[in-house]
Amino acid sequence: MISVTLLGTGSPLPSPDRAGPSTLVRAGAASLLLDCGRGVVMRLAGAGVMPVALSAVLLTHLHSDHISDLNDVITTQWVMTSTETPLRVYGPPGTQQVVDAVLNMLALDQQYRLDHHADLDYRPAIDVTEVRPGDALVVAGAHVVVHETDHRPVAPTVGYRIEHAGTVAALAGDTVPCPGLDALCQDADLYVQTVIRADLVKLIPNQRLQDILDYHSSVEQAAQTAARANVKTLVLTHYVPPLLPGQEDEWRAQAAAHFTGDIVLGDDLTTITAG
Ligand SMILES: [Zn+2]
Ligand SMILES: [Zn+2]
Repeated sequence: MISVTLLGTGSPLPSPDRAGPSTLVRAGAASLLLDCGRGVVMRLAGAGVMPVALSAVLLTHLHSDHISDLNDVITTQWVMTSTETPLRVYGPPGTQQVVDAVLNMLALDQQYRLDHHADLDYRPAIDVTEVRPGDALVVAGAHVVVHETDHRPVAPTVGYRIEHAGTVAALAGDTVPCPGLDALCQDADLYVQTVIRADLVKLIPNQRLQDILDYHSSVEQAAQTAARANVKTLVLTHYVPPLLPGQEDEWRAQAAAHFTGDIVLGDDLTTITAG
């Protein structure tokens, strides 16, 4: 069985109710955190998972909305360990640079805590692996395959196909439909896709928002990918603009026009299980 919890269903646009993009995948003994958006540690606590319990962090890409609270994951994991415990972080090339910069940002804080706590005599140990499409990993018994996605000019970006006991969850970050995304999702039980409502974004007279149309999947495109790849359940997240109360049926109808399987939209901490 695999369970997927939408920790943060928001986007760069601030929302009082939706944390930034991040998703928890539990597969057997593995607890995998996909991306680390705004408020991720709060939402992890809401899901009953402390950062010390994470098997790994998987990053889809290095846009700020997907990594802004990586520093909180790192610090909270570190201060809650009793012995040096590496935090495994997988991500596209550039991830080591980001982690090094985050650790540099936290250097003063680390020194304060090392000086103050006699029993804390080690700094955060971050074990970074930069991944490329085609890489296959085993994390706490879960099989993870890395696939290429297309969020250009942001590159490289990746998605993760996670398999446990015959159940498959395909986790895509920001991407337009592309062959790599189809391969990522093929016959998956769950396909989680970050989306925008293209029809609503087009109405906003702001060039910076119009720019996002060409590198995200719309709700319709996510549904078309799900249909093409024969997935069982499509899970939508990263709602732009924020999904408001009462609008869920409208979003669902846009997807249902292209995909006949199950469609899930939800608030933060919505959990979906398969297998
Ligand atoms: Zn992005
Ligand atoms: Zn994003």
